[in-house]
Amino acid sequence: MRLSFEFFPPRTPKGRAGLLGVADRLNRFRPAFFSVTYGADGSTREGTADTVHRLLGHGMATAPHLSMGSDSAERIGALVDEYLRAGVRRIVALRGDRPSGIGGARLPSNAEALVRVIRSHCGDALQLEVAGYPEVHPEAESPAGDLEFLKRKVDAGADGIITQYFYHPYAFFDFRRRAEAAGIGVPIVPGIMPLTNFTRFVRFSKGCGADVPRWLYKRLEAYRDDEPALREFGIEVVTKLCQDLLAGGAPGLHFYTLNRWGATTRICENLGIAAGRAPAHS
Ligand code: FAD
Repeated sequence: MRLSFEFFPPRTPKGRAGLLGVADRLNRFRPAFFSVTYGADGSTREGTADTVHRLLGHGMATAPHLSMGSDSAERIGALVDEYLRAGVRRIVALRGDRPSGIGGARLPSNAEALVRVIRSHCGDALQLEVAGYPEVHPEAESPAGDLEFLKRKVDAGADGIITQYFYHPYAFFDFRRRAEAAGIGVPIVPGIMPLTNFTRFVRFSKGCGADVPRWLYKRLEAYRDDEPALREFGIEVVTKLCQDLLAGGAPGLHFYTLNRWGATTRICENLGIAAGRAPAHS
């Protein structure tokens, strides 16, 4: 069972100082890698690279996220070379979110193009992960079209898929079944978002198009002024989600940690993932 933990590049000196401690706490679960997000149109280029280098320097396998935005293939190639020299062996290749301020304009590229650029630049030197959407990408014209583009990313050279988060395991199983039927043979690892704060979670989900089921929304809303109770409820819900996913054959879990270790740690402990031991389901 492949475990991975996602960070974003910290925006403050305090956040930067604390992140290695967060990574240390999560490292006891022996993740396959930590990943570090990349801001829209390269807005965190330095912050992402800095965080990646610090985690690598701390002895942790780290996968930078990368999107092309308005960068040239040469610029992407130079960054990939820098990462390879530093010891990176895996990249999460994305189209990226729209930078704020460009409204409805289409980004110049898609993730398939980035996968092709990286593959043609460095062959098989890197494992490439791409994003998948069990609930369908919000801009996709149809579920079938979305899947077709996912297949194109895989055919272009992606080795694995990490999904957007969701709270109904059936969305994942249906997605996996449809992906397999479409000839997608790479591992599909579900993305897991712990629930710790009502307002932030609802805003974030709206932004990325992740569905918050009504029952979950209502239950979390009832706890909005009682964060400890909300956290306990969230840990229970997300633990059960992970158990169902692993029991149904999910090959791993990718946690959107939001640079925090508490809820993710509790969920991993509940799943019986300790000191590198795989949980009973895997
Ligand atoms: P694509 O695969 O390019 O798909 C985007 C949309 O275009 C889809 O609707 C698809 O159906 C359609 N499409 C794809 N190819 C074509 C084509 N050839 N012609 C027409 N339409 C096409 N965002 C960030 O900014 N930084 C991050 O670090 C980041 N990390 C993420 C990590 C994970 C695991 C996930 C699931 C998402 C992440 N995101 C991140 C969000 C992601 O960038 C957005 O969801 C973005 O809107 C789509 O990215 P993608 O790589 O899936 O794009």
